[in-house]
Amino acid sequence: MLKRYLRQSDPEVYEILVKEDQRQENSLEMIASENFVSQSVLEAYTSTLTNKYAEGYPGKRYYNGCEFADEIETLAIERAKKLFNVNFVNIQPHSGAQANAAVFLAFLNPHEPFLGMDLAHGGHLTHGSKVNFSGRLYQPIFYGVKKDDETIDFDQIYKLAKEHKPKMIIAGFSAYPRILDFNKFREIADSVGAILMADIAHIAGLVAAGFHPSPIGVAHVVTTTTHKTLRGPRGGMIMTHDEEIAKKINSRVFPGTQGGPLMHVIAAKAVAFGEALKPEYKEYIKKVIDNAKTLAETFLERGFRIVSGGTDNHIVLLDVGKKGLTGNVVADELHAIGITANKNTIPFDPHPPMITSGIRFGSPALTTRGLGKDEFRKIGHIICDLIENIDNDTMKQKLKKEVEEIVKQFPMDKFRLDY
Ligand SMILES: *Cc1c(COP(=O)(O)O)cnc(C)c1O
Repeated sequence: MLKRYLRQSDPEVYEILVKEDQRQENSLEMIASENFVSQSVLEAYTSTLTNKYAEGYPGKRYYNGCEFADEIETLAIERAKKLFNVNFVNIQPHSGAQANAAVFLAFLNPHEPFLGMDLAHGGHLTHGSKVNFSGRLYQPIFYGVKKDDETIDFDQIYKLAKEHKPKMIIAGFSAYPRILDFNKFREIADSVGAILMADIAHIAGLVAAGFHPSPIGVAHVVTTTTHKTLRGPRGGMIMTHDEEIAKKINSRVFPGTQGGPLMHVIAAKAVAFGEALKPEYKEYIKKVIDNAKTLAETFLERGFRIVSGGTDNHIVLLDVGKKGLTGNVVADELHAIGITANKNTIPFDPHPPMITSGIRFGSPALTTRGLGKDEFRKIGHIICDLIENIDNDTMKQKLKKEVEEIVKQFPMDKFRLDY
């Protein structure tokens, strides 16, 4: 029974998985935090390493039988060190949120203050949201962007730092289309003796490929996910140049916040880092940025407003409030014609997070799929046409056909395993 293919042993699960394969194949994936991993990453991800308990670190495990777990974790760490040019890596966090939890635990006592970017201005839940551990256990103080150009307000960060004397400052975002100046963050952190944590979950791929300034050696500690622009398996990691910080981080990941590491995921991380070390990956990231810029330009040409007036990375934030609409309505209408993106608050949004005035678009997944500037321009026009004809069913049918035409040209079979 154990040796049978899933399609035979459990058709109920198999059919759901096939439907998900088809959903990915038949729609345009524009969620900025998503990507498509290679078949090789998927293979490592489904390996028998999922069976192995390996609490501890290479050479210092609690269980026996860890010789190959040690080998794969060491390889993943060595590749990550090379990729980011960093001295110490903890590859075990199960996710980006877990990585951040370990850093909080390393540097802050409960109720101590830290600075993070306001969720409504592009920050992440784990940067102090009151529904997250970061906001419940610690004392968040939020900074944001300036009203005029919608770029980070360093004067405000400086003032807040002086006033609140935070233990830690977080530089990082989930929805911000511009370059982050880590040096400015570090200057402010130093002026109040705070730890600087850079969370590069979104831009890790851009940093690795050299298309965004690196926080390594600037921030005391750097966290990231491995599944966004980095195009690896779902997971997290933590990096630092400092040996003392590295020791502290290791103990806060395990036993601080996690038990056994996901060794199959660590194997898949190693594969993804191997891919990211190849020259083709640099070309990929260059295309990711070019494609996002093309999308932004198309929106601007059509008279739409985007947050900060453009993009330097893989994210474009479209202001649909300007067109008299809300993000939730537009996101659902986009979904109905085959485009997947998410509603997103924009800076100074009059609407709450479940409604919003914005849509966040990202280029990483479709660029992996093979789409280029021509397709991103076409998609930009489809999105604008939809928004301008939100009540016109004939138009929506026509746009849905146009999406189908694009989708057909870029088959997804090389991003799947057979089961
Ligand atoms: C996505 C993201 C995370 C969390 O990653 P998960 O793997 O979903 O827990 C953390 N920080 C930032 C800035 C992110 O964008």
